[in-house]
Amino acid sequence: MSLKSGTWLFYPATTVIGTVLCGKTPSRRHVLILVCITDHSNRLENLSVISGSCLCQCVQYQIIGDITNMGYCHCHKCQKFTGSAFAPAIWIAYEQLKWILGEESLSRYQSSPGIFRYFCSRCGSSIATVAPDHHLASVCAGTLDTDPGIKPAIHIHTASRACWYDLLDDLPKHRLEP
Ligand SMILES: [Zn+2]
Ligand SMILES: [Zn+2]
Repeated sequence: MSLKSGTWLFYPATTVIGTVLCGKTPSRRHVLILVCITDHSNRLENLSVISGSCLCQCVQYQIIGDITNMGYCHCHKCQKFTGSAFAPAIWIAYEQLKWILGEESLSRYQSSPGIFRYFCSRCGSSIATVAPDHHLASVCAGTLDTDPGIKPAIHIHTASRACWYDLLDDLPKHRLEP
């Protein structure tokens, strides 16, 4: 499948995104799950927009379009990246993430081949993990400035969860990915 500029890709499954960003390289079968491709120019004015920023406010971003996947990732890399027990993440198509301000202040670290973790070089806020080749991104929900309209629905990579943190909620828990 060829991808034209101006098209939007929506990935339906947390499975796919968690696998790409935090786990092993996904199978071709997983990567090619696309639920819809719509024309950017025709849809933009009707799409929802969520905003976020870093601690010092110099980096600002928007998430364009529907958000359907939110959860907690407990993998070691997300722990290190966020300095926390887990990463509260919004999993979206990479094309939904738009840098609005301060893109020049962003630094990135390649945590796995083709996986880039973006943070503010001025204040250190962890902002997003991106897999451009797979058209996927995971936004650190702690940097949101507006209500995403959904709540976390899943824990993934609990096999590597912090030993000092107890999981007490009733959400589905997966040792790796679902
Ligand atoms: Zn900053
Ligand atoms: Zn992770």
